[in-house]
Amino acid sequence: MAPSVITNALSVDVEEYYHAEVYRDGTNGMREGLESRVEASTERVLELLSAGAAKATFFILGQVAAAHPALVRKIAGEKHEIACHGHAHEPVFRQTPTEFRADVSRAKAVLEDIIGEPVVGYRAPSFSIGRAQAWAYDILLQEGFRYDSSIYPIVHDHYGDREAPRFPYEIWRKGSRALVEFPISTVRVAGVNLPIGGGGYFRLLPLALTRAGIRRVNARERQATLFYFHPWELDPDQPRPTMSWRHRFRLYVGIEREERKLARLLRDIAFAPIRNILAI
Ligand SMILES: [Zn+2]
Repeated sequence: MAPSVITNALSVDVEEYYHAEVYRDGTNGMREGLESRVEASTERVLELLSAGAAKATFFILGQVAAAHPALVRKIAGEKHEIACHGHAHEPVFRQTPTEFRADVSRAKAVLEDIIGEPVVGYRAPSFSIGRAQAWAYDILLQEGFRYDSSIYPIVHDHYGDREAPRFPYEIWRKGSRALVEFPISTVRVAGVNLPIGGGGYFRLLPLALTRAGIRRVNARERQATLFYFHPWELDPDQPRPTMSWRHRFRLYVGIEREERKLARLLRDIAFAPIRNILAI
């Protein structure tokens, strides 16, 4: 099949397997003595993107960047965009505004010290900026961010806002400075937003659905889509602690096929970093 004409945005949330909210929930937050696997799994992501000639935005957790600065330099050296995933992967709805500002400014400083360039993009842990956390946008703007990517316009038990716009829009403004929101992509079918933006849905559903959904949005709505995944989703050998079947299903469904599916997606769809797509 011919590549899509519109270039779409690709993003990778760089964190350890144990930072996932479902892992934390399933293990009651146990993080002591856990093996670090983020370096090896992110190397696999870089190889995959290199083979697919794709560039992406990497939302890197501040804690991971501080522990693995060479990895951050390597990602930047391969011409991907470095962006911020906060410092400690604490959901925004569990933080006060003061705690949130401290978390994002610390992570931004760590990343900027390593790459020597401004970091302008932010993604909240587990898409955790809901309507009650709109104060976070003002803080992001004050801390020098120019875009946010923390909304998934679907119905979900942990996150999602099905009323939110589906394409990039100005979510906050102060004077001449604006913060743009780039939501994770959905395709609208029969009045319902269906997820085509990656994560667990991509592992669960056939590749053809995501691919057809992206092409439909590109062709019918003339809009770029945004897709995301995590390095730990390419690591089927990660430790799998005892947890309920529901938690296990959400974390590990389709994990063995993920790398092959992503390779095929990169072959069929043209991808670039978010900053390039938004032209900021
Ligand atoms: Zn995350």
